[in-house]
Amino acid sequence: MAVLLTSFLMVVVKYNSFVFGMESDVKQTANAYQSLLNNTAITNEEFFASVPDKPFRITVISESGEVLFDNESDTTENHADRPEIVSARETGTGHSTRYSDTIQEQTFYYALLLDDGNVLRVSETTATVFRSITDSSPFIIISIFVVLIGSYFIAGLFTKRLIKPINEIDIESPVDNQTYDELSPLLLRIDTQNVQLRAQMADMQKMRDELSDIMEHMEEGLIVLNSKGSVLSINNAALSIIKREKDFCIGKFVLELHRGDVFQHLSEKISKKENVQTEFSENNKIYHVSVSNISSGGTILMFMDVTQRQNAEKLRREFSANVSHELKTPLQTISGCAELLKNNLVNEADIPQFIDKIYSESIRMTVLIQDIIKLSQLDENAIGMTREITDLSSITEQVLTELCEKIEKKNILVETDLQSAKIKAIPIIIKECIFNLVDNAIKYSNEASKITLSVKDKFDKVEVIVKDSGIGIPLEEQDRIFERFYRVEKSRNRDMGGTGLGLSIVKHAVAVHEGNITLSSEEGKGTKITIVFPKTK
Ligand code: ADP
Repeated sequence: MAVLLTSFLMVVVKYNSFVFGMESDVKQTANAYQSLLNNTAITNEEFFASVPDKPFRITVISESGEVLFDNESDTTENHADRPEIVSARETGTGHSTRYSDTIQEQTFYYALLLDDGNVLRVSETTATVFRSITDSSPFIIISIFVVLIGSYFIAGLFTKRLIKPINEIDIESPVDNQTYDELSPLLLRIDTQNVQLRAQMADMQKMRDELSDIMEHMEEGLIVLNSKGSVLSINNAALSIIKREKDFCIGKFVLELHRGDVFQHLSEKISKKENVQTEFSENNKIYHVSVSNISSGGTILMFMDVTQRQNAEKLRREFSANVSHELKTPLQTISGCAELLKNNLVNEADIPQFIDKIYSESIRMTVLIQDIIKLSQLDENAIGMTREITDLSSITEQVLTELCEKIEKKNILVETDLQSAKIKAIPIIIKECIFNLVDNAIKYSNEASKITLSVKDKFDKVEVIVKDSGIGIPLEEQDRIFERFYRVEKSRNRDMGGTGLGLSIVKHAVAVHEGNITLSSEEGKGTKITIVFPKTK
């Protein structure tokens, strides 16, 4: 482009100066010939004979426009209306330029009025500016080629020299590089950006570590999937739920993680980008699974262990059903007896027996309701009850005193080994606990059998053992007797006045005091229940 532009400009400038020179040559010649023609010493014919053929065309035109002389042409055309002639006649001089498009030439005419009334015209023909450019185009094209080839090699050379140090820059420590000065601002910017980048990377790494720390320590299983449903990350909890190794899971489609129906259902929902909540059972546990699609197109699967909650709900349902059932039986007896009495349908002699029944059933109800209240208090972790230093031996002695009537009635031998053993506890609950154990030992012992009670201080803990030689508990029932309302032989035990809540109260009471309870029992031989309470400060 530069060559082209320069060439054009040069041609135009050169052309202009050439035209200017040519015009002034024409004018000078015309002036010289005018003086000659006006000189009376030379006749026109002598002058015409002396005029050379070249370089100018000389024409003398009469007043009527007739060509009197022309050194180049034999034209007979009338020249009177040519602009330069008209002007010369009027003002003494005239000039004009005429172009010939076909041969790309232009002719400059200069006319002067002579003393005899004729007009002298001198003209010269030159190429037009366009032709000058066209004529020079081969040279321009050659120069463009030369410049292009030269530029190509020179630019290549320069580029190499410029790029080499850039390619050799150590991006990690840009300011230590030895390069040309012009690169310094760039290197400084790279250095500043490096610092910012390192800080951002450190922040990101920290966030990532925190996030993976949270993920790994979460109790909930977490699986993050990309938009195609393949595993991006999975935490330890999720791995142990589906029993897989991390390496196996990463990149796998969700359906490949587990072949169960729930995963089948989940993968369908995930591919449809639907949020869903479902339940998934594995390893005797129940998980609440929630699938949430996130804005980036990925999906998060969260597994929450709801086994305890579901079991607690089941227990609560069973408990309410049991409570109503347990209350219904004595109430029905009471209302039945009362109705018979009211309608005078009972023999006079049987009336005391009926009243006795009403009384004993109402006592049973009261005991049951009291037990339920105790249990609900313990369920609330005995909130509001204050702990104080409690001697378990003296509590055991109190229990024995309260139960002495029952003991004597059954002619039971009670052997005791009661050491002073103090813990910080809620006395009323501890008493309830020991009472229930001794009461059971009496209830489920045969007449004239033996019960052993021991309370021992074992440095950092206190141990209470209640041992009887009674009917014992079948092995398969031993796990269940601590459940609410659970009785080994329901009908027989109810006759004994049991509510089925005694041992669950014991279990709760022990838990409230962070203790531990163990049971060993053999059917027909007896039962030994050991409670250990830690000594809390
Ligand atoms: P209950 O009020 O019926 O005694 P518990 O919760 O105290 O209820 O006991 C649950 C069941 O465990 C009892 O019904 C009984 O069958 C059994 N059991 C508890 N203690 C003993 C024991 N010392 N010997 C034999 N069986 C026992």
